[in-house]
Amino acid sequence: MKKVVKFGGSSLADAKQFQKVRDIIQADDTRVYVVPSAPGKRNDSDIKVTDLLYECYEHAVAGQNFYEPFLAVKDRYNEIIQGLGLNLSLAEAFDAIENKLIHEPEKDYTASRGEYLNGLVMANFLGYEFIDATEVIFFDEAGNFDEAKTNSILSQRLEACAHAVIPGFYGMDSNGKIKTFSRGGSDITGSIVAAACRAGVYENWTDVSGLLMADPHIISNPAVIKNITYKELRELAYMGASVMHEDAIFPVKKAGIPINIRNTNKPEDPGTWIVENTARRSKYTITGIAGRKNFCSIIISKDLMHSQPDFYRKVVQCFEENNIPLEHLPSGIDTMTVIVHENKFIEHEQDVLSRIAKFVKPESLEVESGISLIAVVGRSMKSQTGTAAKIFSALADARINVRMIDQGASELNIIVGVLNEDFERAIRSIYHVFVEKQQNYTKHT
Ligand code: ASP
Repeated sequence: MKKVVKFGGSSLADAKQFQKVRDIIQADDTRVYVVPSAPGKRNDSDIKVTDLLYECYEHAVAGQNFYEPFLAVKDRYNEIIQGLGLNLSLAEAFDAIENKLIHEPEKDYTASRGEYLNGLVMANFLGYEFIDATEVIFFDEAGNFDEAKTNSILSQRLEACAHAVIPGFYGMDSNGKIKTFSRGGSDITGSIVAAACRAGVYENWTDVSGLLMADPHIISNPAVIKNITYKELRELAYMGASVMHEDAIFPVKKAGIPINIRNTNKPEDPGTWIVENTARRSKYTITGIAGRKNFCSIIISKDLMHSQPDFYRKVVQCFEENNIPLEHLPSGIDTMTVIVHENKFIEHEQDVLSRIAKFVKPESLEVESGISLIAVVGRSMKSQTGTAAKIFSALADARINVRMIDQGASELNIIVGVLNEDFERAIRSIYHVFVEKQQNYTKHT
């Protein structure tokens, strides 16, 4: 079994971090393909190399002097090389970047150099072959990732190479130019490499010990999720939980490869396993809680609404014509509620409302803003009775008024709407009833 290991920017911020990475790789000889990001922040006030490179480009394209950020980039790599005692010079590579910035500045090319240079350093440090991403990762004419071409060329290339470093974040477009994924895109490269070599695991090494059950800004020291399915992750990620680039899921998911999120600074922690299916249950019934603020609800009431088969369609059309995505549509007898994000709705508000008034002639039309949505997600919820009751009694005990409830047909999640000012308190009370109470119970039994 082969493993693909991707290391994020904080795992490669300086020579000390590089050494931790080497120890991790050497501890397991199935860790054969390495995908590095560019060096990240060494401390809170530091600047990521990728951000310095974007700054170089902005100055260069405006015809301004770009040497301040450019020298800072050079210093970062030279410090790492010296700190590791490598016999490696990046002078030629730096000259090529400088030349390009002077004569023909290109945004994606410039940004991609962070990963490119880090890949050269990493390959030298590990004694692994360096495979430039431009030779194996491709985009099509429309600028989308070219899966078929990439898979065929990359898998052949990897078959011929036992150990390699492939820089993350970029590839080559159909005109032979460098193109990057969106920010954080090294996660996607790692996933693509894992799929191409049919890895047993895609390990994604970062600076946290996995995906947390709730936002640590709201819950202090939340529990780590041990196992999560792709579907659950999607629900939590949509509601704002993040641990890696959203698009990184698709290549490995399709190939049936699990992802293991790990902490470079605590390699002994097992991290989070993201899998297609699992018989393992969370001891807390729920897998995680996530939420977002600032939604609006539009409540449309009309007697005997259900006798008009085109009622829903007409309402939905009023939003569609204004290009407003619908988040949820909880409905009742003679009322239909549409939940949308405030910043997508407010600008078109009057147009939407007047269209609804005209097309469906409701008896009443109410708009409420400042609503937060909280998703309580868990594959084990459907086999346990009383989960919804537990959520609502927790909210009632905290005297939080629930403005909306929506349970997906998959029973994978329950979504509740509360006022923005109750958001944090609502998350804390749900977390308490499912997690902290259970932890206390386990402690005392
Ligand atoms: N270095 C790039 C960024 O900062 C890509 C990555 O780190 O994944 O967005």
